This record gives sequence, C-alpha cells and structure tokens, in this order.
Amino acid sequence: MIPKFLTQIFGSRNDRLLKTYRRTVVQINALEPQFEALDDAALRAKTDEFRQRLAAGSTVDDLLPEAFAVVREASKRVLKMRHFDVQMVGGIALHQGKIAEMRTGEGKTLTATLPVYLNALPAKGVHVVTVNDYLARRDAEWMGRLYGFLGLSVGVNVPGMGRAEKQDAFRADVTYGTNNEFGFDYLRDNMVYETGDRVARGLHYAIVDEVDSILIDEARTPLIISGQAEDHTELYVRINAVVPQLKKQIGEADPRTGEGVIEPGDFTVDEKTHQVYLTEDGHEKAEALMAEAGLLPAGASLYDPANIALMHHVYAALRANHLYHRDQHYVVQNGEVVIVDEFTGRLMTGRRWSDGLHQAVEAKEGVQIQSENQTLASITFQNYFRMYGKLAGMTGTADTEAFEFQEIYGLETVVIPPNRPTVRKDENDLIYKTEKEKYDAVAADIRDCHERGQPVLVGTTSIENSERLSALLTKAKLPHQVLNAKQHAKEAEIVAEAGRPKAITIATNMAGRGTDIVLGGNVEKQIQILQADASLSDEQKAAKAKQLQDEWAGLHDQVKAAGGLRIVATERHESRRIDNQLRGRSGRQGDPGSSRFYLSLDDSLMRIFAGDRVRAIMDRLKMPEGEAIEAGIVNRSIESAQRKVEARNFDIRKQLLEYDDVSNDQRKVIYQQRNEILESASMLETVAGLRRSALTDVVRTHVPPETLEEQWDLAALETVLKDEWQLEVPLRTEVEASDAITDEDIVEKVVAAGEAMFQAKLDIVGEAQFTPFMRMVLLQSIDSHWREHLAALDYLRQGIHLRGYAQKNPKQEYKREAFELFSQLLDVVKMEVTRVLLTVRIQTQEQVSAAAEAIEQQASRVENVSYTHPNEDGSVSTEADASSEVPRVGRNDPCPCGSGKKYKQCHGRLA
Ligand code: ADP
Repeated sequence: MIPKFLTQIFGSRNDRLLKTYRRTVVQINALEPQFEALDDAALRAKTDEFRQRLAAGSTVDDLLPEAFAVVREASKRVLKMRHFDVQMVGGIALHQGKIAEMRTGEGKTLTATLPVYLNALPAKGVHVVTVNDYLARRDAEWMGRLYGFLGLSVGVNVPGMGRAEKQDAFRADVTYGTNNEFGFDYLRDNMVYETGDRVARGLHYAIVDEVDSILIDEARTPLIISGQAEDHTELYVRINAVVPQLKKQIGEADPRTGEGVIEPGDFTVDEKTHQVYLTEDGHEKAEALMAEAGLLPAGASLYDPANIALMHHVYAALRANHLYHRDQHYVVQNGEVVIVDEFTGRLMTGRRWSDGLHQAVEAKEGVQIQSENQTLASITFQNYFRMYGKLAGMTGTADTEAFEFQEIYGLETVVIPPNRPTVRKDENDLIYKTEKEKYDAVAADIRDCHERGQPVLVGTTSIENSERLSALLTKAKLPHQVLNAKQHAKEAEIVAEAGRPKAITIATNMAGRGTDIVLGGNVEKQIQILQADASLSDEQKAAKAKQLQDEWAGLHDQVKAAGGLRIVATERHESRRIDNQLRGRSGRQGDPGSSRFYLSLDDSLMRIFAGDRVRAIMDRLKMPEGEAIEAGIVNRSIESAQRKVEARNFDIRKQLLEYDDVSNDQRKVIYQQRNEILESASMLETVAGLRRSALTDVVRTHVPPETLEEQWDLAALETVLKDEWQLEVPLRTEVEASDAITDEDIVEKVVAAGEAMFQAKLDIVGEAQFTPFMRMVLLQSIDSHWREHLAALDYLRQGIHLRGYAQKNPKQEYKREAFELFSQLLDVVKMEVTRVLLTVRIQTQEQVSAAAEAIEQQASRVENVSYTHPNEDGSVSTEADASSEVPRVGRNDPCPCGSGKKYKQCHGRLA
C-alpha cells in the first residue's frame, strides 16, 4: 500500500494513467472537424488506408488517435451516438490490454468498438467475449452496423452452430461470443483429425465484457468436454469366450534353436512388464478361433491394418485372464470390478484401468461391462484467456479484485471516471433480528416505492429467495416480475422496463445483466417495433414515434421526481463486488437513485461473522420486535467478513490454477505435437524418430549402455524383437562372428532392421498412401493416451492429500508425479505407434486408405459428448461451508471493524 500522503502529492497511478490517456483524447478530439467533413465513402476508405499504413510499417499504436476518431465519426452517423470522452479513455485502456472499470450505463458496449476496430485492422481477428449468447447476438447486431459501415465483418459464435458457420464466424474481423463457447472451440479444435475441421484462427486479442464475472466468478471450475467411447460391450464378451482356448507357454523359446520351451503354447507372459505376446503359432490359432467365432473374416490377418483395434482387444483379454488376478489386483464388489492399490491394499473405488483392460476384466468376471465416461479435454478459463496475444476486460466492478487480475492474468485495472457524477444515495444497511422482520421491512419499503410511483429493483442472492419474496409480494397484492437468469432474451426485455413508474422487479444477481435500466422505460425498443410495422406509413410512424417520445419524457420526469430507481437488497452477498453490481444498476449517467440492503441475524453471512455480537447489542438495547439497527460500524464488520470470504475464494481459484498449470504445460506439448502432425505433409521423420527411440529402449533393457558382451542377454533380446516387433535379427550369430561389436553397434543393427522392415511396407503402398494412415495411428494413440492421462491426473490430484506424505508439499508431489505420468504417456505412445507401424500387414493401397479412414471414424465416434462448466448459469455458489473457514475473533486480535485497536478495546467491549 502506498501511504495516502504520497498519493496526494504525486497522484495515484490511476490518476497518472488517466492523465496520459486524456492527452491522447485531446488529440482525437482535434481530429473531429476534419473527419466530420469527409463523406461516408471517404470515411469508410480510412479502413483500407489504415491497413495499408500498417503494411507499410506503422503500428496500431501510431494509428490510435485517427482510428478512434474515425470510429466516433462513424458512430455518430450510424448509431447516432457520439463516444463520450470518458469512453475514449476507456477505449485506450482496453487497447493497452487493461481492465477498464466503467460503471453500469457508462456505455461499455460502445466503448469497446474503439479498440475492437483498431485491433481488427491487422486482420487477425478480435474476440469480444460476453456472459451469455443473448448479449453476444445483441452486441454483434447493434455494433455490427458500425463495423459494417467501416468495412469490417462481424461474426457471432454461439453453441449449436455447424462447422462451416463457425468457421465463417471466426474468419470475420470481429467475433462476438461467450467465454464458454470460445473455450470449447479451442478444445474441440485440438481434437480434430483434419486441419480443415478446425474453426478458430489464433488468439490475437480479446475484450472480455463483465470480466469479473467471467475471469473470477466462473473461474473456479474448468471447462470440460467429456463423452463415452464407442460401446464395445458385446465384443468384449465374445472375445473373452475365445481367449481361454489359447494356451500359455511355459519357458522361453530360443529363437534360433527353438530350445528352452518347457511346454509350448500360444502366448508368453512377461510378469515384469505386465505384457503378453502371441507366439507365431498362437497368432495363427487366434486367427482361426476368431474366424470361427465370426469375429474375423476368413483369411484375414490380425495384423491387417483394419484389425488393429481387434488385436488390441485380444491382448486386453489375454492380460485380463493371465496377469490380473481376483482378490490380488482387484476385487469384485456389488457386481463391480474394484482395483486394489498394489502398494497399500486400499480399494480404489471409482478408478478404472484404461485401454479396455477394465472392460476385459469385467467380461472375464461376467459382471456388467460399463462404458466409461471419459474426460476428453479440459481447460480453465485462466489458462484459456492467458493464451491471447493481448487481453483486455471491462466491468462495472473490478477494483475490489484488482489484485487478482494483476496476479493471475497480469491485467491492470484502470478506474475510468463516469461521464456524469453519480448522485445515487447508498443508505446504510438495516439489520433485523429475524428473517421475518427483515422481509416485512423489505415489503414495506417496496410498498412505499410503489405507492409513490418509484420503480424498485429487488436483488436476491438465490432463486429460492426470489421465489420466497415473490410469494410475499403476491400476498401483499404488489404486482411484480421475477427474473432468475434462465431466459436471457426475455429477461432483458423485462429488465429494460424495470425503470417504469411503479415497476417492481425481483432479480437474482445475474438476471438481465448487461441490459440498461432507463428511467421511464425503454422507449427505443418501442420505437424499433413501430418502425418495423409495415402497415404504417412513414408519417404515421413519425407521429407515433413522437407521441411515444413525449409519453416517455413524461414518465421519465415522473420517475426522476420519485427518486429514480430504488435498489432493495434482501441479503449481502459473500462478495462485495456482487453487491456493488446490484447497486450499480441504479444511478446511471447521473440519474437519481438510492439503494438499501436489508439484513437479518439469520443471514448466513451474519451467522458466520458478526451475528453474536450484533445480537448482544440488540438484546442489551432491548430492541422491540421489528426495529433494526443501522450503523456504519456494522457495515464495516460486514465488509470485513466479506473480505475474508473473498480471500478464501481467491485461494480456491488459485489452487485450481496451480494444479491446472501442470496439466496446462502438458496440454500445450500435446496440442503442439498434434498440430504438427496434422499440418506436416510428411510423417516419415516423426515416425523414424519414434522408431529409433523405441527400438533403442528395447535393446537397452537387454544390452545396457557401455557394457561388455558378457553382460548382454542377446537371446532374450532376439525373442522380444521377434515376438513383439516381428523383427528377426541374428544378433548372436553376428556377435559370434566378430569380436569388435559394441553395445552401440547392437542398437544400430536393430534400428537398421526396423528401418528396413518399415521401408519394405512403405514400398508396397507408397508414401502418399501410407501418410494418412501413419497420421491417424499417431493421432489416435496420442488422443487415447492423453485422455487416460487426464483421468490419471484427476485421480492423482484427488488422492494427493491422502497419500500420507509426511512433511511433503502435496503440490510438489503432484507436480513430480504428474511429470512422471507424462513421460510414461510419451513412452507408451512411442512404443505403441512404432509397434503398429512395424507389425501391420500391408498388401494393397486400398486396404491402407480404408484403415486410415476407419481409425478416423472410430476416433470421432464418441457418444454422449457433453460440454460442461459447473458454474454455467453464472451463479456464484459457495462450495464449502464458510463457517469452518472464517475464524472467530480473539480478544487480543485487531478489531474487524478496521479501527486498528484490539478487539477487546473496541467492539469487543460491547459484547
Ligand atoms: P454498460 O454496459 O456500460 O452498462 P451499455 O453499453 O449497455 O452500458 O450502454 C448503456 C446505454 O447508454 C445504452 O442504451 C447506450 O445506447 C447508451 N450510450 C452509451 N454510450 C453513449 C453515447 N456516447 N451517447 C449516447 N448514448 C450512449
């Protein structure tokens, strides 16, 4: 904190910023006569001129004064609104990637047009983010007239649009849409199998409207796309019926002599790595059995590209039957297969093995096979919005959260002064003993307004309270409207009329947000409807419009005389910001207005915090029923209670972010890899790299680096290469024939053999045909393991606090383990892709193309996809019982009123 006297001398940073902005506004204003003189075409031609100047080396900063002046001039002509100077100031802040705090009614929608236009000039797209679809459409349409006039295209991005429509929306210079939709599009774009399926084009600049709502209230939960993989229930059962007929081989065969097998069989089991491999005979037998069971066409091979998935199932079934044992690795409980933690013996309820293994075990046990719901992708708003090249926000209430914006998003908040000074009277809170007394007082206040013709907006913190109040008013015969943020468009209409004389409107915090309450009602809307009426002549329209205007002017004066819009709140919200939002709906553009919060000792915030003390005071004063106390002191202790809850919520968001940061880095790696795979014309280099690394790993388990011949287990290596990779490399023969072979040479020999085998396949179909197949195999492997990885991270995170890491920081442990899991994921993908590409049996080009297509289809055939964001309705719910978090004040603690004295010497004395 900067001491007050210093800011008095030097001015605050906010003042200094405003000062520099105002200097620019003077420049902009000076251009006005010049641009006023241009005709429409010349004004519009400015857009091209600016773009040319950008191409010639000017920067958007250079162009700012002129561009802003052009937008203002165009707005005057098209929208009949001239940007106020403070809107220019707000526009500069937004251009600079800051948060402009501008009160309700200051015209943020219009303000945004300035930086939007300027930043759309480089033609990389500008996103304007709104809290709901209704506002996205409204603002795009409303401001779209202005952009259109200046030659910029506008798109709207809302749920349910087709791909082509979305691509159009993103191709536009300016795109309006909700935070959720932009976030989901980003995730979806990273799940496609063809570049042409992506909809967005880069994240250049975004202005987030109601930025506190989006980046703070909604940021406690991530966006999640989830879905069910295709249902293979029947397949698991059928394969499980076949697999027991395959026989396990005892002992290991020497590939050269065939010796060493104690009892021949169809597959080998490697207990160490938890893997099984079909032997050559086993392979043939499996094919025959599968053909018999109708699972494989006669004559087809399990190594055919089309049967990769089937092969996968066979292996899963073999592992389920021979490596996973009941009551050791899992138990069967209530018809479910529950994993047993290998190390602790704890039951891991809800956790599932991945890769089809769990289903295979379920098939083996004859219990119901569950199709699992998987998280396909997820991201937090924090991490989504931080990816924009430049981010800006606007809201009526940012200042209380300025620290968080700075810390999490690096966004500075600038408080923009209002166009006209606010004259709204914010009255002290009234506190009643019981809820009933409180509601009676609220009803009395409303009745008073109603009788005097003053409109009143009643704010509640929940739908439940709205309904309760509504019932009360109905009983009291007070006509009213109830809004609870369910039907945005309809509610916007109602809210627009909330300023008419005698209007009573009950609204939850989110309801009708973004819509202006004009005293006297919304005449503009009525005139619009009138203008659209084809049955009227122009003269009739003009006459009617005049009449409406006059009527409205009368109502407007009437409401002003009655005190403007009255805000009545039935509770304090846990966040001051939300209370300020409610108050801010009154007193726009210098209008009169007033606000009052009614509280009771039964309110949760009071119960948690100031309740006991205030109750004691009330008792001591022997306050009769129905009386309230009203004191600045109480206001302050409520504020400090709110501060505490706010701090706790900040911690929750920060925690979420700290954990998400880990997966965020990993997500970036995966998405980048994915994009490279999607975009590069050739896959050869990528798969060669994977192959080299995979085969090196294989060699190194048997021939460690810098070792001598005596330490090598070439027999085992040859077996693995043959069984698992179908590579026959006569290593022992070669080593025997020469005594100059090093461990490095072995690696090179194996890699070369892999190379040759791969090349042989490539030669059959040609690179052009093989590329899509390789691409699909890669993408499919990355995607499926990434999804498993997400589940594993989730599980890890939930359990991290239970792990009993004495003295260890759970976040650090999480990071470490997450990193380990991630490198495992990369390893698995490497091995899997290499194995598939080496063992796949290729005969024709058609076969390969069909297989590529099949993989793509299968991968995109996810069922029951759902897009969730738990705070979707914008409600700000309390996740935990706050009472456990806010500590009681100790007698020697500083008094919560903020006096600086000890509690016992201040308000504690009263208690
Ligand atoms: P906010 O989002 O800041 O609460 P809005 O963008 O909804 O405010 O605008 C509030 C009202 O003010 C709108 O009806 C708009 O038409 C009007 N308005 C905004 N700027 C101007 C202006 N420069 N001149 C005239 N009216 C304006």
